Amino acid sequence: LFARPWEFLTSVTDMANLPDAAEAEIAFAGRSNVGKSSLINALTGRKGLARTSSTPGRTQMLNFFVAPDTPLTIVDMPGYGYAQAPKELVEAWTQLVFSYLRGRPNLRRVILLIDSRHGIKKNDLEAMDLLDKAAVVYQVVLTKADKIKPPQLKRLIADTQAALAKRVAAHPQIIATSSEKNHGVDELRAELCLLANQ
Ligand code: GDP
Repeated sequence: LFARPWEFLTSVTDMANLPDAAEAEIAFAGRSNVGKSSLINALTGRKGLARTSSTPGRTQMLNFFVAPDTPLTIVDMPGYGYAQAPKELVEAWTQLVFSYLRGRPNLRRVILLIDSRHGIKKNDLEAMDLLDKAAVVYQVVLTKADKIKPPQLKRLIADTQAALAKRVAAHPQIIATSSEKNHGVDELRAELCLLANQ
Protein backbone atom coordinates (compact mmCIF):
# COMPACT_ATOMS: atom_id res chain seq x y z
CA LEU A 1 0.00 0.00 0.00
CA PHE A 2 2.69 2.47 0.95
CA ALA A 3 5.02 1.43 -1.85
CA ARG A 4 2.72 3.22 -4.31
CA PRO A 5 3.22 6.80 -5.50
CA TRP A 6 1.05 8.90 -3.20
CA GLU A 7 -0.21 12.17 -4.55
CA PHE A 8 -2.30 15.16 -3.60
CA LEU A 9 -5.93 14.85 -4.75
CA THR A 10 -7.77 17.94 -3.55
CA SER A 11 -8.32 20.44 -0.75
CA VAL A 12 -11.79 21.28 0.46
CA THR A 13 -13.15 23.97 2.72
CA ASP A 14 -16.75 22.85 2.77
CA MET A 15 -18.72 19.63 2.74
CA ALA A 16 -20.23 20.29 -0.70
CA ASN A 17 -16.86 19.76 -2.38
CA LEU A 18 -15.76 16.51 -0.77
CA PRO A 19 -14.41 13.93 -3.25
CA ASP A 20 -16.46 10.77 -3.84
CA ALA A 21 -16.52 8.56 -0.79
CA ALA A 22 -15.59 5.30 -2.49
CA GLU A 23 -12.40 4.51 -0.61
CA ALA A 24 -11.64 3.90 3.03
CA GLU A 25 -10.46 7.09 4.66
CA ILE A 26 -8.08 7.71 7.54
CA ALA A 27 -7.83 11.27 8.81
CA PHE A 28 -4.89 12.79 10.69
CA ALA A 29 -5.59 15.44 13.31
CA GLY A 30 -3.54 17.28 15.91
CA ARG A 31 -2.36 20.61 17.27
CA SER A 32 -0.50 22.76 14.81
CA ASN A 33 3.20 21.93 14.84
CA VAL A 34 2.57 18.43 16.28
CA GLY A 35 4.49 16.88 13.35
CA LYS A 36 1.47 15.93 11.21
CA SER A 37 2.96 16.87 7.83
CA SER A 38 6.24 15.18 8.70
CA LEU A 39 4.44 11.97 9.66
CA ILE A 40 2.26 11.90 6.53
CA ASN A 41 5.39 12.47 4.46
CA ALA A 42 7.24 9.69 6.32
CA LEU A 43 4.32 7.27 5.88
CA THR A 44 3.97 7.89 2.17
CA GLY A 45 7.69 8.22 1.58
CA ARG A 46 7.12 11.56 -0.17
CA LYS A 47 8.92 14.45 1.43
CA GLY A 48 6.94 17.42 0.14
CA LEU A 49 3.50 15.77 0.00
CA ALA A 50 1.92 17.31 3.07
CA ARG A 51 3.09 20.87 3.57
CA THR A 52 3.71 22.64 6.79
CA SER A 53 1.33 25.49 6.88
CA SER A 54 1.29 26.56 10.48
CA THR A 55 0.10 30.07 9.77
CA PRO A 56 -2.62 31.35 12.06
CA GLY A 57 -5.56 32.65 10.12
CA ARG A 58 -4.98 30.57 7.03
CA THR A 59 -7.95 28.93 5.37
CA GLN A 60 -9.07 25.80 7.13
CA MET A 61 -8.91 22.94 4.68
CA LEU A 62 -9.13 19.19 4.52
CA ASN A 63 -6.38 17.87 2.23
CA PHE A 64 -6.88 14.52 0.50
CA PHE A 65 -4.07 12.20 -0.61
CA VAL A 66 -4.45 9.09 -2.76
CA ALA A 67 -2.33 6.47 -4.49
CA PRO A 68 -3.18 4.47 -7.63
CA ASP A 69 -5.02 1.15 -7.04
CA THR A 70 -5.01 1.76 -3.32
CA PRO A 71 -8.18 1.39 -1.26
CA LEU A 72 -7.13 4.09 1.17
CA THR A 73 -7.38 7.86 1.19
CA ILE A 74 -5.34 9.87 3.69
CA VAL A 75 -6.91 13.08 4.93
CA ASP A 76 -4.84 15.83 6.50
CA MET A 77 -7.15 17.77 8.80
CA PRO A 78 -6.44 21.39 9.67
CA GLY A 79 -4.25 21.75 12.76
CA TYR A 80 -5.88 23.21 15.85
CA GLY A 81 -4.74 25.15 18.88
CA TYR A 82 -3.04 28.22 17.48
CA ALA A 83 -2.43 30.48 20.44
CA GLN A 84 -3.46 33.53 18.42
CA ALA A 85 -6.38 31.98 16.55
CA PRO A 86 -9.40 34.26 16.51
CA LYS A 87 -12.66 32.84 17.82
CA GLU A 88 -14.21 32.72 14.31
CA LEU A 89 -11.35 30.53 13.09
CA VAL A 90 -11.80 28.08 15.94
CA GLU A 91 -15.52 28.00 15.17
CA ALA A 92 -14.86 27.43 11.46
CA TRP A 93 -12.49 24.58 12.36
CA THR A 94 -15.05 22.98 14.63
CA GLN A 95 -17.82 23.33 12.08
CA LEU A 96 -15.88 21.91 9.12
CA VAL A 97 -14.28 19.14 11.12
CA PHE A 98 -17.45 18.15 12.93
CA SER A 99 -19.55 18.00 9.76
CA TYR A 100 -16.82 15.94 8.09
CA LEU A 101 -16.57 13.58 11.06
CA ARG A 102 -20.34 13.14 11.24
CA GLY A 103 -21.03 12.98 7.54
CA ARG A 104 -18.29 10.80 6.10
CA PRO A 105 -19.43 7.17 5.87
CA ASN A 106 -16.06 5.82 4.69
CA LEU A 107 -14.06 7.43 7.51
CA ARG A 108 -12.55 4.43 9.30
CA ARG A 109 -10.50 6.14 11.96
CA VAL A 110 -8.95 9.40 13.04
CA ILE A 111 -5.30 9.31 13.95
CA LEU A 112 -4.97 11.85 16.74
CA LEU A 113 -1.39 13.07 16.99
CA ILE A 114 0.05 14.07 20.35
CA ASP A 115 3.50 15.60 20.75
CA SER A 116 5.60 13.34 23.03
CA ARG A 117 7.12 16.37 24.74
CA HIS A 118 3.77 17.88 25.68
CA GLY A 119 1.33 15.01 26.19
CA ILE A 120 -2.42 15.67 26.04
CA LYS A 121 -3.24 19.39 26.26
CA LYS A 122 -6.52 21.20 26.83
CA ASN A 123 -7.28 21.58 23.12
CA ASP A 124 -6.51 17.89 22.55
CA LEU A 125 -9.17 17.13 25.15
CA GLU A 126 -11.58 19.39 23.24
CA ALA A 127 -10.74 17.53 20.01
CA MET A 128 -11.41 14.23 21.82
CA ASP A 129 -14.76 15.58 23.05
CA LEU A 130 -15.64 16.33 19.44
CA LEU A 131 -14.55 12.88 18.27
CA ASP A 132 -16.48 11.17 21.06
CA LYS A 133 -19.55 13.22 20.14
CA ALA A 134 -19.16 12.34 16.46
CA ALA A 135 -18.67 8.68 17.45
CA VAL A 136 -15.61 8.27 15.24
CA VAL A 137 -12.95 5.88 16.51
CA TYR A 138 -9.70 7.71 17.14
CA GLN A 139 -6.28 6.34 17.86
CA VAL A 140 -3.55 8.30 19.57
CA VAL A 141 -0.19 8.34 17.84
CA LEU A 142 2.65 10.04 19.69
CA THR A 143 4.97 12.14 17.53
CA LYS A 144 8.61 13.22 18.00
CA ALA A 145 9.30 10.26 20.31
CA ASP A 146 13.02 10.84 19.66
CA LYS A 147 12.73 14.03 21.74
CA ILE A 148 12.23 12.19 25.04
CA LYS A 149 14.07 9.40 26.85
CA PRO A 150 12.72 5.80 26.83
CA PRO A 151 11.58 5.82 30.51
CA GLN A 152 9.72 9.10 29.94
CA LEU A 153 8.12 7.68 26.82
CA LYS A 154 7.02 4.60 28.76
CA ARG A 155 5.41 6.78 31.42
CA LEU A 156 3.77 8.98 28.79
CA ILE A 157 2.24 5.92 27.09
CA ALA A 158 0.87 4.66 30.42
CA ASP A 159 -0.56 8.10 31.33
CA THR A 160 -2.09 8.53 27.89
CA GLN A 161 -3.63 5.07 28.05
CA ALA A 162 -5.17 5.93 31.42
CA ALA A 163 -6.62 9.18 30.00
CA LEU A 164 -8.09 7.32 27.01
CA ALA A 165 -9.69 4.59 29.11
CA LYS A 166 -12.46 7.00 30.13
CA ARG A 167 -13.23 7.98 26.56
CA VAL A 168 -16.12 6.60 24.53
CA ALA A 169 -14.60 6.34 21.06
CA ALA A 170 -10.86 6.07 21.83
CA HIS A 171 -8.94 3.09 20.49
CA PRO A 172 -6.81 1.66 23.32
CA GLN A 173 -3.62 1.07 21.34
CA ILE A 174 -1.07 3.87 21.26
CA ILE A 175 1.73 4.01 18.70
CA ALA A 176 4.88 6.03 19.40
CA THR A 177 6.55 7.45 16.30
CA SER A 178 9.45 9.58 15.19
CA SER A 179 9.35 10.82 11.61
CA GLU A 180 12.89 12.03 12.04
CA LYS A 181 14.28 8.61 13.05
CA ASN A 182 11.64 6.63 11.15
CA HIS A 183 10.54 4.90 14.36
CA GLY A 184 7.04 3.43 14.62
CA VAL A 185 6.30 4.37 11.03
CA ASP A 186 6.10 0.73 9.87
CA GLU A 187 3.86 -0.10 12.81
CA LEU A 188 1.50 2.70 11.86
CA ARG A 189 1.58 1.62 8.20
CA ALA A 190 0.62 -1.92 9.25
CA GLU A 191 -2.29 -0.57 11.28
CA LEU A 192 -3.53 1.50 8.33
CA CYS A 193 -3.23 -1.48 5.97
CA LEU A 194 -5.41 -3.51 8.31
CA LEU A 195 -8.03 -0.76 8.31
CA ALA A 196 -7.94 -0.36 4.53
CA ASN A 197 -8.55 -4.06 4.00
CA GLN A 198 -11.38 -4.35 6.48
P1 GDP B 1 2.55 20.12 11.51
O1 GDP B 1 2.33 21.58 11.70
O2 GDP B 1 1.78 19.32 12.50
O3 GDP B 1 2.33 19.64 10.11
O4 GDP B 1 4.07 19.84 11.90
P2 GDP B 1 5.38 19.60 11.01
O5 GDP B 1 5.39 18.23 10.42
O6 GDP B 1 5.56 20.72 10.09
O7 GDP B 1 6.50 19.62 12.15
C1 GDP B 1 6.63 20.69 13.03
C2 GDP B 1 8.08 20.78 13.52
O8 GDP B 1 8.42 19.62 14.25
C3 GDP B 1 9.08 20.87 12.38
O9 GDP B 1 10.11 21.75 12.77
C4 GDP B 1 9.60 19.45 12.25
O10 GDP B 1 10.93 19.39 11.77
C5 GDP B 1 9.54 18.95 13.69
N1 GDP B 1 9.31 17.49 13.72
C6 GDP B 1 8.33 16.80 13.10
N2 GDP B 1 8.42 15.48 13.34
C7 GDP B 1 9.51 15.31 14.14
C8 GDP B 1 10.13 14.16 14.74
O11 GDP B 1 9.73 13.01 14.59
N3 GDP B 1 11.22 14.41 15.53
C9 GDP B 1 11.71 15.65 15.74
N4 GDP B 1 12.76 15.78 16.55
N5 GDP B 1 11.15 16.75 15.19
C10 GDP B 1 10.08 16.59 14.39
